[in-house]
Amino acid sequence: TLAPQLANSRAPLWMSFALGLGFSGLFGALMTFVTQRLLQRDRAVREERHSERVGFQQRELYLAALAEAESHLLADTDGEGNRAALAALGRAAGATRASVYFVRTDPRDQSLVALVGQSWQSAGVSIPNALHDIKLGQNFARWLEPLTAGDVLEGPTSALPLSERSALEAHGVRTFLALPIGEASKTPRGILLIENPKTPSQDHLRAAAAAFLHAEARREIERATRRQALHDPLTDLPNRRHLREELERRLGDAERHGTGVSVIFLDLDRFKQINDTLGHDFGDRFLQYIVRHRLHPCLAPNDFLARVGGDEFVLVLSSERLSVHHDATQRSSAILRSLMLPIALEGQELYISTSIGISGFPTDGSDVESLMKHADVAMYAVKEAGKNNFRFFEKSMMEGATDKLRLEADLRHALDPRSSASDAFLVHFQPQVDVRTGEMVGLEALARWNHPERGLVPPDEFVGLAEETGLILPLGEHILRAACRQGAAWIAQGHKLRIAVNLSAAQLRERELVLQVHRVLSETKLPPECLELEFTETAMMKDIPGAQAVMADLKRIGVWLSIDDFGAGASSVAQLRDFPFDSVKIERMFVKALLESERDREVTRALISLARAMDANVVAEGVESMRQCEILAGMGCTIMQGHFFSYALTAEELERRFFAAPAAQQAA
Ligand code: C2E
Ligand code: CA
Ligand code: CA
Repeated sequence: TLAPQLANSRAPLWMSFALGLGFSGLFGALMTFVTQRLLQRDRAVREERHSERVGFQQRELYLAALAEAESHLLADTDGEGNRAALAALGRAAGATRASVYFVRTDPRDQSLVALVGQSWQSAGVSIPNALHDIKLGQNFARWLEPLTAGDVLEGPTSALPLSERSALEAHGVRTFLALPIGEASKTPRGILLIENPKTPSQDHLRAAAAAFLHAEARREIERATRRQALHDPLTDLPNRRHLREELERRLGDAERHGTGVSVIFLDLDRFKQINDTLGHDFGDRFLQYIVRHRLHPCLAPNDFLARVGGDEFVLVLSSERLSVHHDATQRSSAILRSLMLPIALEGQELYISTSIGISGFPTDGSDVESLMKHADVAMYAVKEAGKNNFRFFEKSMMEGATDKLRLEADLRHALDPRSSASDAFLVHFQPQVDVRTGEMVGLEALARWNHPERGLVPPDEFVGLAEETGLILPLGEHILRAACRQGAAWIAQGHKLRIAVNLSAAQLRERELVLQVHRVLSETKLPPECLELEFTETAMMKDIPGAQAVMADLKRIGVWLSIDDFGAGASSVAQLRDFPFDSVKIERMFVKALLESERDREVTRALISLARAMDANVVAEGVESMRQCEILAGMGCTIMQGHFFSYALTAEELERRFFAAPAAQQAA
């Protein structure tokens, strides 16, 4: 295909030569002139064709670059796409550099300035750095109006006023195109600057600017949603998830650069009291105040503060390895001092303090989990030692005397929905038997904690802890759900049962409990009358009107209510009469006492008749022997629970022992 093209382009030359040779004299001269004119015209046409072809190729090039740029911008999440898009455009324009500038307000004087974002620079051309900022409020003030109007600024820098010209030329710019990235007649969000283009094409670059705008708008939406997912709406601080990501990132950096990181765990002392006495709304505003006026002023620009719980915060510091300890000490004591000052808010004068635990990378751990846990343990050591102080984590805090602290830290961890340890809690079931028929009429659900190192931890060792640490609500819901789900499954198989679940005093205080029970029942489809909730007498007596209200609400849902450890609280009939309940469970102690003396037997007999006088069902618990069983039956109490009948069993064991099909029983 090359040969015909060559021949074709040579033809006029050859013709003029032939013609000139064939004719002579004036005619010949005339002919030569004519052919030369013809030739000239021909060259003009050819040049036009050529430039058309070049123009066409250029357009093609631009379109391809635009398509490439768009695809990069679409895939972009963090500016990398901008760089790739700029490269495609810069090459198409034959530019030395192509950059995106983002328009910002200078916080110092509120003037507009466009700061360089991403930049592409032609390889092989050595030019100074990109212009760092285009000061739309100062030496480039002239640019703002046309850019806002959507106009493109173009030309050689030699045509510009000196202030603009010198700024641009200092960065190697001789000719340029500056295009607004933004909506028409609004302050542009950015500027697309093409430096020293050989083949500028306004139309194509305008299209590119529009693509940058769309990408930026999309990124903004993504940033907003990401922000939402990573921030606590109340204080606008990063949330736990964000903390985890940030801490992971900083630990990676610290490892690479041999630097250090501190994790500072803050827990406000007495915040719960403020919340309880002045209300949750006030508590919310109080937290906002604390964050804005007491914590923020203590932070350095690179500090990372997150809110990880109601009144719990985590501060992350990156430091040189030698100054990790010093920085953490400095920041912690500044925060302690700042929080100790009285707080005047909405006419209240309040005092608060905080307990701070600190762990450091690399000394106390190298991953997020262990650093967080160790800071938490150190914070608990401060609480134990009288609060309002800070301490660095020490290994001894994990052992011996601080066994309880460790367990608390583990409990928090096990209940953290973000940790995968939520199956750490199990429910065992203990049958309740009607001795007249020998039938199992109910099951009490008893919580067990499957601890990674300690094995099964009994409820007495963690329910109290959960109450103290405010973890009882999530723990309670978890257990309630597990018990109801299992109960519903058995009932669906045709077993007639009621599932009893223990609730603690702290749960009885919460109105939220009623919603929780409602939610779990509808989730698990357990009929309300098949659920029994056990409250101890002492829990009910702590706040009589409050407990009465919650129990009345629960009764309205249709669940059964029983008084656990009946007799142990020594409440009077007068006190108990106003509570709605269906049954009582005679405390183990009284069952045990049955074998001791006639006097003890009299007490138990009195308790049973007291219960019956209040129209309550009576269940005896802790029945361990045949003798106890007989005495109780003689006193008219026929529903019993205890080791004599069965220990608390896992769901599978219980099914095997009590629900096995007759065929299976025969086989056994
Ligand atoms: P409780 O409600 O009085 O539960 C009865 C306890 O007595 C259970 O201990 C049970 O295993 C034990 N027991 C049963 N039969 C006998 C017997 O014949 N002899 C003796 N000596 N003991 C017997 P467990 O499971 O260790 O529970 C202890 C306490 O922990 C419970 O006392 C209850 O107050 C609390 N608890 C258990 N599960 C939960 C729960 O899910 N939530 C709350 N808030 N508390 C729970
Ligand atoms: Ca109980
Ligand atoms: Ca009991």
